[in-house]
Amino acid sequence: THEYFQNSEKLALVGQLAAGIAHEIRNPLTSLKGFVQLMEKDGMRKQEYFSIMSSELARIELIVSELLVLAKPHASAFEVHDLTNLITHVVTLLETEAILQKVTIQVALESPLPKIHCDENQLKQAFINFLKNGIEATSGGGEIVIRLWCEGDKVVIRFEDNGVGIPAEQLSRLGEAFFTTKETGTGLGLMVSRRIIENHRGTLQLMSTPGIGTTVEVCLPVIS
Ligand code: ADP
Ligand code: MG
Repeated sequence: THEYFQNSEKLALVGQLAAGIAHEIRNPLTSLKGFVQLMEKDGMRKQEYFSIMSSELARIELIVSELLVLAKPHASAFEVHDLTNLITHVVTLLETEAILQKVTIQVALESPLPKIHCDENQLKQAFINFLKNGIEATSGGGEIVIRLWCEGDKVVIRFEDNGVGIPAEQLSRLGEAFFTTKETGTGLGLMVSRRIIENHRGTLQLMSTPGIGTTVEVCLPVIS
Protein backbone atom coordinates (compact mmCIF):
# COMPACT_ATOMS: atom_id res chain seq x y z
CA THR A 1 0.00 0.00 0.00
CA HIS A 2 0.90 3.65 -0.15
CA GLU A 3 1.91 3.82 3.49
CA TYR A 4 4.11 0.77 3.25
CA PHE A 5 5.86 2.26 0.25
CA GLN A 6 6.50 5.50 2.14
CA ASN A 7 8.01 3.61 5.04
CA SER A 8 10.32 1.52 2.92
CA GLU A 9 11.42 4.67 1.13
CA LYS A 10 12.22 6.24 4.48
CA LEU A 11 14.19 3.16 5.51
CA ALA A 12 16.20 3.36 2.32
CA LEU A 13 17.02 6.99 3.11
CA VAL A 14 18.08 6.09 6.64
CA GLY A 15 20.29 3.37 5.20
CA GLN A 16 21.92 5.81 2.79
CA LEU A 17 22.52 8.33 5.52
CA ALA A 18 23.94 5.69 7.86
CA ALA A 19 26.29 4.47 5.15
CA GLY A 20 27.44 8.02 4.51
CA ILE A 21 28.03 8.76 8.17
CA ALA A 22 29.90 5.50 8.69
CA HIS A 23 32.09 6.24 5.67
CA GLU A 24 32.84 9.85 6.65
CA ILE A 25 33.76 8.92 10.20
CA ARG A 26 35.69 5.79 9.31
CA ASN A 27 38.27 7.73 7.28
CA PRO A 28 39.58 9.90 10.13
CA LEU A 29 39.22 6.94 12.53
CA THR A 30 41.37 4.72 10.32
CA SER A 31 43.99 7.41 10.17
CA LEU A 32 43.88 7.87 13.96
CA LYS A 33 44.31 4.15 14.46
CA GLY A 34 47.31 4.18 12.14
CA PHE A 35 48.98 6.94 14.12
CA VAL A 36 48.36 5.21 17.44
CA GLN A 37 50.05 2.11 16.02
CA LEU A 38 52.95 4.19 14.74
CA MET A 39 53.39 5.84 18.12
CA GLU A 40 53.51 2.44 19.81
CA LYS A 41 56.55 1.59 17.68
CA ASP A 42 58.28 4.90 17.28
CA GLY A 43 58.57 7.32 20.18
CA MET A 44 60.53 9.94 18.25
CA ARG A 45 58.04 11.77 16.09
CA LYS A 46 55.18 12.17 18.48
CA GLN A 47 54.76 15.95 18.20
CA GLU A 48 54.22 15.66 14.48
CA TYR A 49 51.68 12.88 14.95
CA PHE A 50 49.78 14.84 17.57
CA SER A 51 48.86 17.68 15.25
CA ILE A 52 47.59 15.35 12.53
CA MET A 53 45.69 13.30 15.08
CA SER A 54 44.13 16.38 16.54
CA SER A 55 42.93 17.58 13.13
CA GLU A 56 41.41 14.15 12.44
CA LEU A 57 39.63 14.34 15.80
CA ALA A 58 38.39 17.83 14.97
CA ARG A 59 36.92 16.48 11.74
CA ILE A 60 35.00 13.74 13.55
CA GLU A 61 33.79 16.32 16.05
CA LEU A 62 32.56 18.63 13.26
CA ILE A 63 30.67 15.84 11.48
CA VAL A 64 29.06 14.65 14.71
CA SER A 65 28.06 18.14 15.81
CA GLU A 66 26.48 18.91 12.44
CA LEU A 67 24.56 15.63 12.53
CA LEU A 68 23.34 16.22 16.07
CA VAL A 69 21.05 18.98 14.81
CA LEU A 70 19.16 16.34 12.82
CA ALA A 71 18.65 14.29 15.96
CA LYS A 72 17.07 17.10 17.98
CA PRO A 73 13.32 16.99 18.57
CA HIS A 74 11.30 19.47 16.57
CA ALA A 75 10.17 22.20 18.91
CA SER A 76 13.17 22.05 21.19
CA ALA A 77 13.54 25.65 22.39
CA PHE A 78 11.18 27.90 20.48
CA GLU A 79 11.01 31.44 21.81
CA VAL A 80 10.18 34.88 20.51
CA HIS A 81 13.28 36.47 19.02
CA ASP A 82 14.36 39.57 17.21
CA LEU A 83 15.83 38.68 13.81
CA THR A 84 17.95 41.82 13.66
CA ASN A 85 19.88 40.82 16.79
CA LEU A 86 20.23 37.27 15.57
CA ILE A 87 21.68 38.32 12.20
CA THR A 88 23.97 40.89 13.80
CA HIS A 89 25.35 38.22 16.12
CA VAL A 90 25.97 35.78 13.28
CA VAL A 91 27.77 38.46 11.24
CA THR A 92 29.96 39.33 14.25
CA LEU A 93 30.87 35.65 14.66
CA LEU A 94 32.12 35.41 11.07
CA GLU A 95 33.65 38.87 10.73
CA THR A 96 37.27 37.86 11.33
CA GLU A 97 36.96 34.94 8.94
CA ALA A 98 35.56 37.32 6.31
CA ILE A 99 38.37 39.85 6.81
CA LEU A 100 40.96 37.08 6.51
CA GLN A 101 39.38 35.98 3.21
CA LYS A 102 39.07 39.60 2.00
CA VAL A 103 35.30 39.37 1.88
CA THR A 104 32.98 42.20 2.89
CA ILE A 105 29.64 41.53 4.53
CA GLN A 106 26.88 44.10 4.28
CA VAL A 107 23.53 43.94 6.04
CA ALA A 108 20.56 45.72 4.48
CA LEU A 109 17.43 45.52 6.57
CA GLU A 110 14.02 46.99 6.65
CA SER A 111 13.30 48.07 10.20
CA PRO A 112 11.61 47.36 12.41
CA LEU A 113 11.35 43.70 11.49
CA PRO A 114 8.61 41.68 13.16
CA LYS A 115 9.56 39.11 15.74
CA ILE A 116 9.58 35.41 14.96
CA HIS A 117 9.23 32.16 16.86
CA CYS A 118 12.47 30.25 16.66
CA ASP A 119 15.06 28.08 18.25
CA GLU A 120 17.77 30.73 18.36
CA ASN A 121 20.75 28.37 18.33
CA GLN A 122 19.44 26.29 15.47
CA LEU A 123 18.58 29.28 13.34
CA LYS A 124 21.99 30.79 14.05
CA GLN A 125 23.63 27.57 12.94
CA ALA A 126 21.70 27.64 9.64
CA PHE A 127 22.62 31.28 9.00
CA ILE A 128 26.26 30.59 9.89
CA ASN A 129 26.26 27.76 7.33
CA PHE A 130 24.89 30.03 4.56
CA LEU A 131 27.32 32.79 5.42
CA LYS A 132 30.30 30.43 5.62
CA ASN A 133 29.43 28.98 2.22
CA GLY A 134 29.23 32.53 0.90
CA ILE A 135 32.65 33.41 2.31
CA GLU A 136 34.14 30.19 0.92
CA ALA A 137 32.66 30.95 -2.51
CA THR A 138 33.97 34.53 -2.62
CA SER A 139 37.27 33.89 -0.85
CA GLY A 140 40.08 36.11 -2.09
CA GLY A 141 37.92 39.18 -2.52
CA GLY A 142 34.18 39.31 -2.78
CA GLU A 143 31.02 40.67 -1.38
CA ILE A 144 28.12 39.25 0.57
CA VAL A 145 24.91 41.18 1.10
CA ILE A 146 22.33 40.01 3.61
CA ARG A 147 18.88 41.46 2.95
CA LEU A 148 15.87 41.18 5.21
CA TRP A 149 12.37 42.39 4.54
CA CYS A 150 8.74 41.58 5.26
CA GLU A 151 6.32 40.19 2.73
CA GLY A 152 2.82 39.67 4.09
CA ASP A 153 2.98 37.20 6.97
CA LYS A 154 6.53 36.18 6.10
CA VAL A 155 9.97 37.55 6.56
CA VAL A 156 12.44 37.03 3.74
CA ILE A 157 16.16 36.69 4.48
CA ARG A 158 18.54 36.65 1.55
CA PHE A 159 22.25 35.87 1.49
CA GLU A 160 23.64 37.13 -1.82
CA ASP A 161 27.24 36.56 -2.83
CA ASN A 162 29.20 37.35 -5.98
CA GLY A 163 31.28 34.18 -5.72
CA VAL A 164 32.03 31.23 -7.98
CA GLY A 165 28.40 30.13 -8.29
CA ILE A 166 27.07 26.62 -8.76
CA PRO A 167 26.86 24.76 -12.09
CA ALA A 168 23.32 23.65 -13.05
CA GLU A 169 24.17 19.95 -12.80
CA GLN A 170 25.27 20.44 -9.18
CA LEU A 171 22.33 22.60 -8.13
CA SER A 172 19.99 19.60 -7.98
CA ARG A 173 22.40 17.69 -5.74
CA LEU A 174 22.66 20.39 -3.09
CA GLY A 175 21.33 19.32 0.25
CA GLU A 176 22.16 15.71 -0.48
CA ALA A 177 24.07 14.36 2.50
CA PHE A 178 27.86 14.54 2.05
CA PHE A 179 27.69 16.29 -1.32
CA THR A 180 30.62 18.70 -1.32
CA THR A 181 32.92 20.28 -3.89
CA LYS A 182 35.41 21.33 -1.21
CA GLU A 183 38.54 19.47 -0.25
CA THR A 184 37.74 19.60 3.46
CA GLY A 185 33.99 20.10 3.21
CA THR A 186 31.56 17.85 5.06
CA GLY A 187 28.65 18.31 2.67
CA LEU A 188 26.33 18.47 5.65
CA GLY A 189 25.75 22.22 6.00
CA LEU A 190 22.92 22.64 3.51
CA MET A 191 21.15 19.43 4.48
CA VAL A 192 21.20 20.34 8.15
CA SER A 193 20.21 23.96 7.41
CA ARG A 194 17.29 22.93 5.24
CA ARG A 195 16.09 20.70 8.06
CA ILE A 196 16.35 23.61 10.52
CA ILE A 197 14.39 25.96 8.22
CA GLU A 198 11.71 23.29 7.70
CA ASN A 199 11.48 22.81 11.48
CA HIS A 200 10.62 26.50 11.59
CA ARG A 201 7.88 26.05 8.97
CA GLY A 202 9.97 28.06 6.56
CA THR A 203 11.26 27.52 3.06
CA LEU A 204 14.75 27.49 1.59
CA GLN A 205 15.70 28.25 -2.00
CA LEU A 206 19.06 28.48 -3.77
CA MET A 207 19.57 30.40 -6.98
CA SER A 208 22.94 30.52 -8.66
CA THR A 209 24.73 31.52 -11.82
CA PRO A 210 28.28 30.23 -12.34
CA GLY A 211 30.75 33.09 -12.40
CA ILE A 212 28.15 35.57 -11.15
CA GLY A 213 27.14 34.38 -7.71
CA THR A 214 24.65 32.67 -5.49
CA THR A 215 21.56 33.73 -3.59
CA VAL A 216 20.21 31.74 -0.68
CA GLU A 217 16.65 32.74 0.20
CA VAL A 218 14.96 31.83 3.46
CA CYS A 219 11.30 32.61 4.19
CA LEU A 220 10.05 32.35 7.75
CA PRO A 221 6.57 32.89 9.15
CA VAL A 222 6.23 35.92 11.44
CA ILE A 223 4.20 35.94 14.64
CA SER A 224 0.66 37.06 13.84
P1 ADP B 1 30.27 22.06 2.46
O1 ADP B 1 30.29 23.55 2.68
O2 ADP B 1 30.89 21.30 3.60
O3 ADP B 1 30.83 21.65 1.12
P2 ADP B 1 27.41 22.41 2.24
O4 ADP B 1 26.27 21.47 2.41
O5 ADP B 1 27.41 23.65 3.07
O6 ADP B 1 28.73 21.56 2.46
O7 ADP B 1 27.48 22.85 0.71
C1 ADP B 1 27.49 21.86 -0.29
C2 ADP B 1 28.05 22.39 -1.61
O8 ADP B 1 27.18 23.40 -2.14
C3 ADP B 1 29.39 23.10 -1.48
O9 ADP B 1 30.47 22.18 -1.47
C4 ADP B 1 29.40 24.01 -2.70
O10 ADP B 1 29.79 23.32 -3.84
C5 ADP B 1 27.93 24.37 -2.86
N1 ADP B 1 27.60 25.71 -2.30
C6 ADP B 1 26.86 25.98 -1.21
N2 ADP B 1 26.74 27.31 -1.01
C7 ADP B 1 27.41 27.91 -2.02
C8 ADP B 1 27.65 29.29 -2.40
N3 ADP B 1 27.18 30.31 -1.67
N4 ADP B 1 28.37 29.51 -3.53
C9 ADP B 1 28.84 28.47 -4.27
N5 ADP B 1 28.65 27.18 -3.96
C10 ADP B 1 27.95 26.88 -2.86
MG1 MG C 1 29.10 24.57 4.09
